[in-house]
Amino acid sequence: MTTPLRTQVAIVGAGPAGLLLSHLLAGAGIDSIVVDQRSREEIETTIRAGILEQGTVDLLAEIPGSRVHSVGTRHDGIELRFDGHGHRIDFPGLVGRSVWLYPQHEALKDLIAARLAAGQDLRFGITIDEVLDADSSRPGVVGVDATGAPVEIEADFVVGADGSRSNVRVAVTGSHTGGYFREYPFAWFGILCEAAPSADELIYSNSPDGFALISQRSKTVQRMYFQCDPEADPDALSDSEIWDTLKRRVPGTTLTEGPIIKRDVLRFRSFVAHELRRGRVAIVGDAAHTVPPTGAKGMNLAVADVILLARALDSLLNHGDESLIDGWADRARQRIWKAQHFSWWMTSMLHTVPEATEFDRLRQLGELRSVVESEAGRTYLAEAYTGWPLASAG
Ligand SMILES: Cc1cc2nc3c(=O)[nH]c(=O)nc-3n(C[C@H](O)[C@H](O)[C@H](O)COP(=O)(O)OP(=O)(O)OC[C@H]3O[C@@H](n4cnc5c(N)ncnc54)[C@H](O)[C@@H]3O)c2cc1C
Repeated sequence: MTTPLRTQVAIVGAGPAGLLLSHLLAGAGIDSIVVDQRSREEIETTIRAGILEQGTVDLLAEIPGSRVHSVGTRHDGIELRFDGHGHRIDFPGLVGRSVWLYPQHEALKDLIAARLAAGQDLRFGITIDEVLDADSSRPGVVGVDATGAPVEIEADFVVGADGSRSNVRVAVTGSHTGGYFREYPFAWFGILCEAAPSADELIYSNSPDGFALISQRSKTVQRMYFQCDPEADPDALSDSEIWDTLKRRVPGTTLTEGPIIKRDVLRFRSFVAHELRRGRVAIVGDAAHTVPPTGAKGMNLAVADVILLARALDSLLNHGDESLIDGWADRARQRIWKAQHFSWWMTSMLHTVPEATEFDRLRQLGELRSVVESEAGRTYLAEAYTGWPLASAG
């Protein structure tokens, strides 16, 4: 037996969703405990998202000590490359907004430092197994710490910000898998390499051979991806085979090569949980939905979820008003499905499905031309990529 910890909001997961939620709640005078199964070092070194919407960056910039503007780089456009030509989508010219390249782990370093400096109860190495009493006004979570000792937290509200393999989701939907789901017949082979950037902005390239993305990390390290079989073994290709594939997929661009320091295969899934809340338990971020990375929406969507949830919890816990929390899931879902559509659209427009016919290929080129040759098409892409306004967050 152990004495339960007590707090107002128990947050499972110290990823972008959980940490940002604790920050916003603290601003509303609401206490929270954040627990994560990983160590601080692991969280601060895992390479994931890179492209942040303007609204996400504006919010991160307000966090004390944030380096988003000093270390991050503003990107005013992307290139869509197909049929031997590149076409720039000029974000500020079309929608007056930009995106920022700021690696997720750098944003997490900022958030962790700021939360700890503010006295946040943030505990690493704690794995939550189960939610207790989800239907009551005193829900809780139970799990174990790094030594195997039991941990229990009682709260007024429990939030699962515990990523795509969420345990908290079980208390909300009744299972690990309860949701709308789509699997794609391809994955991304991703590399990190030590080289100068090959381009100033991201290049999304559709080629007869398959998709590739040329992305950046810093002046000396670059991130690049190419479409591959979901079962591909990341160690099966030599470095020169990787560079040959990338060069074939991005014709007309000279790639700056360098030692490959990391390689991985990233499977694609679209998922939205059937339910986002049950009583006083809610799921946010990747616990509630996942998107293929083509539209760079996952972390940004997690941010949008928690902005709305923080406001609803402020009303509930500070004013006893249940109206916002009752409407929270429906409001969050509106943006979630727009982002699902955008991510699916970018993915299907740019990748080659294994059974594609000549008709499919020519239709895809027609679709890409419809986008780049029309101001309306370019504007839709720019609007969705840079992020719909977060005005509803209030
Ligand atoms: C290669 C790649 C590129 C991407 N690029 C972009 C991009 O450019 N832009 C973008 O917006 N998004 C991008 N994403 C998506 C983005 O990384 C995720 O959507 C984002 O991490 C979601 O944040 P989260 O806080 O919901 O979940 P996570 O970041 O997954 O955090 C969940 C946390 O919960 C912890 N946890 C899990 N289970 C438990 C448990 N039982 N008990 C305690 N703790 C637990 C985990 O250790 C983890 O720290 C990319 C993802 C990948 C993989």
